[in-house]
Amino acid sequence: MNNSAPLPDSVNEIDYHILIGLEKIGMALKSQSWQDAGQQGLTPTQGQILNLLVNTEGVRLSAVAKNLGVTAATASDAVASLVDKGLVQKTRSPADGRAIAITLTPSGQQAAGQTATWSDFLLTTVDELTAAEKVIFLRGLIKIIKKLQEQGKISVAKMCVTCSFFQPDRYPNSEQPHHCGLVDAPFADGNLRITCAEHVSAKH
Ligand code: SF4
Repeated sequence: MNNSAPLPDSVNEIDYHILIGLEKIGMALKSQSWQDAGQQGLTPTQGQILNLLVNTEGVRLSAVAKNLGVTAATASDAVASLVDKGLVQKTRSPADGRAIAITLTPSGQQAAGQTATWSDFLLTTVDELTAAEKVIFLRGLIKIIKKLQEQGKISVAKMCVTCSFFQPDRYPNSEQPHHCGLVDAPFADGNLRITCAEHVSAKH
């Protein structure tokens, strides 16, 4: 097969093409987020911060930077702009009165609702996959995210596979092989979560 870019000797052809595919999806997401955030007068980083703050009681600046994978200085500049725009505010953290937490203002809540739809274009394409393809894709994504998380290269995702309630393959050969100890119920591969509000980190 003729590739437009040379394949490095150390990389398998399929690995290389998966990499290129992920890169292209990343670029599409980035360009869409620029367009949509731009229409609201926000940078993509500011749009991501608004989304991060939805349904939280406040997030500390260091956690904002960690979740977005940006430096503390970049997060601080973006938060300062959002404060100027009246979309976020700095308050005392309910969990630790000495710490400052960043929360959405009512206008910020409204703006977050609008920016939250920017990835919808990808949702329609994911929906083109068959049920079986979705399960395989989800499992692959979880594996990649877990590895990147272990290497400290991605913000921590609240996934079943890192949760203390998760009991993998408790029911072998079943259509619902896994068990969630929180709700005390079995579930299938297709129900594995990449983000879960009830997640409790498993101690390793
Ligand atoms: S609590 Fe949430 S993350 Fe943990 S196993 Fe149950 S569904 Fe998965």
